[in-house]
Amino acid sequence: MKYYSTNKTVSGISLKEAVTKGLADDKGLFMPERIEAFPPSFFETIHQLSFQEIAFEVAKKFFGEDIPNDDLKTLVDDTLNFDCPIAHVNDNIFALELWHGPTLAFKDVGGRFMARLLGYFLQGNEEQVNVLVATSGDTGSAVANGFLGVPGIHVYVLYPKGLVSEIQEKQFTTLGQNITAIEVDGTFDDCQRLVKTAFLDEELKSQLTLTSANSINVARFLPQAFYYFNAYARLRERGLTEDLVVAVPSGNFGNLTAGLFGKKMGLPIKRFIAANNENDIVYNYLKTGQYEPRPSVATIANAMDVGDPSNFARILDLYDHSHEAIKAEMTGYRYSDAEIREVVKDVYHKYGYLTDPHGATAYKALEESLQDGEVGVFLETAHPAKFTETVEKIIGLGKVNLPEKLAAFMKGEKQTVPLSKDFEAFKKYLLARS
Ligand SMILES: *Cc1c(COP(=O)(O)O)cnc(C)c1O
Repeated sequence: MKYYSTNKTVSGISLKEAVTKGLADDKGLFMPERIEAFPPSFFETIHQLSFQEIAFEVAKKFFGEDIPNDDLKTLVDDTLNFDCPIAHVNDNIFALELWHGPTLAFKDVGGRFMARLLGYFLQGNEEQVNVLVATSGDTGSAVANGFLGVPGIHVYVLYPKGLVSEIQEKQFTTLGQNITAIEVDGTFDDCQRLVKTAFLDEELKSQLTLTSANSINVARFLPQAFYYFNAYARLRERGLTEDLVVAVPSGNFGNLTAGLFGKKMGLPIKRFIAANNENDIVYNYLKTGQYEPRPSVATIANAMDVGDPSNFARILDLYDHSHEAIKAEMTGYRYSDAEIREVVKDVYHKYGYLTDPHGATAYKALEESLQDGEVGVFLETAHPAKFTETVEKIIGLGKVNLPEKLAAFMKGEKQTVPLSKDFEAFKKYLLARS
């Protein structure tokens, strides 16, 4: 499969190049030239397949031309050493739990798959590849844990000092080996600027091989489609074949875009809901047709605090920039922190289901919009314990149990490289390590 850029001046790029580069030379995002559909019969028996088996079938559609089936199967099975169950919350609303991976957030699938795919492409390669990733919390842990111990790759996680939760910080600062955490005296935007500037710096590029592991990378973003096929299969397994509505808590819109790919591949999803917090750029776009990015504001659903969602370029490209066509596929909802708190509390007390602040936005949107004959699935993108302080305060019930996987991270020793937000200092540091 060849890839082209959403800015349309680059095309015919191989999967290997798209993954190693991250972003196209014209600064656009890579898109596959074709999206291959499944025959309708596939969906009639999909519920007989496990999450891992479904993922392999979907992966073949994306990567089957580039990677022999046996190798691809190994990549998928190594990635998915965890499950993706569905939980019944009330009447016709279900939670698809995407947080059963090692760092308890949905980015594990993309982080782990990308690490393995890059490792696969770099076999026998002498040169070290350096992965730079800026994080406001969850991306860093998923990427770092995905790449831990992968030969030939070194990961630099840049994060804003004092602005991530202790649990999040422990998940990428305690690993050692090929993972270096850089504690930047600045904001998330500063971290992102350092990474972006590094990709454009000719001297760095001539001395080091650099790539990005943010969701602009096709290897991180496409595997998220596995989740949507699994949602359909697990509902069908329960005999539910009503019209499916999927609500997605959205920030950079990588996850939702992967769902749109699934629909283009024939997956019977009636419509999507894009749930936002107060960073409601796409919500406004859906209403007005105007895309107006602006600086992000901090909310209690912080993984969705994005003011210029990078994958929006992919959505525009998928629907030929037609506002009408995009509106036909999805509706937008937005919630304030106060509303999110209400939802977490209500759902917990009424139905005994604890959502995290991100999943809560998507739950609420379903509650407001589901019609008779529809069944709704919201993506529960993180385990609530990743946001213990917020969630404990909201439900007023003492401690949320820390799952064993998280408790293990908390025991590790934090190790970081402190740096200023000055690019020259970052560059000097990287060059000294080359
Ligand atoms: C990253 C993240 C999101 C947003 O996903 P996008 O693909 O960026 O839209 C939502 N919830 C959680 C918990 C996340 O970590």
